[in-house]
Amino acid sequence: MQRRGLLIILSSPSGAGKSTLAKRLMAWDPTLSFSVSATTRSPREGEVDGRDYFFKPKPEFETMVAAGEMLEHAQVFGNFYGTPKAPVEAAMQAGRDTLFDIDWQGGQQIRRSSLGKDVVSIFILPPSIAELETRLRGRAQDSEEVIAGRMAKSRDEISHWAEYDYVIVNRDVDAAEEEVKTILQAERARADRQPGLNEFVRALNTEFETR
Ligand code: 5GP
Repeated sequence: MQRRGLLIILSSPSGAGKSTLAKRLMAWDPTLSFSVSATTRSPREGEVDGRDYFFKPKPEFETMVAAGEMLEHAQVFGNFYGTPKAPVEAAMQAGRDTLFDIDWQGGQQIRRSSLGKDVVSIFILPPSIAELETRLRGRAQDSEEVIAGRMAKSRDEISHWAEYDYVIVNRDVDAAEEEVKTILQAERARADRQPGLNEFVRALNTEFETR
């Protein structure tokens, strides 16, 4: 049945498990479209251009912003990040849901845009700051200075929790995954998200009448 595509925004401080949850959701539902952001930061080991991010030099990023090609953009850790608009519009038109791994600034911009009514926003909290720091260090890819910067940014990110529709404390990643899936299933079933229902119920009525 025809359904309007949702914009599922996942935000959290770095290290709260957001990327793991995003990967699990994509594996669970192959119809989900993942919004690959553009960024001016350098690729980390193992990251692939076009899959994890579109890695762009700053002038190219700025040209995309000026041309109105970004749904939202923000500065995070001194680098620029933005969501290319075209793939999101294409997914919505096809009735596909899009998953965004973006920070609170991006979440706020999309929620306030004309697409706001189709947004479902979920904030992931860590069980404790000690746990958050352990997870950040566990990545072992970043310097002390970068980790300190991420911890400061985490505090700022967490301060925006109340702007989100749903908040999940990630004590256990399997349980958090189940919670996110439950939210998606409920949001997809909302009457106002299923314009095809009128026609469907009309067909049910016809069936009543022709019995
Ligand atoms: P990282 O550099 O660790 O991949 O991401 C840093 C932060 O930037 C994360 O909180 C991530 O969610 C956020 N981010 C990634 N892409 C975008 C984007 O397109 N827009 C915004 N506003 N934030 C983004």
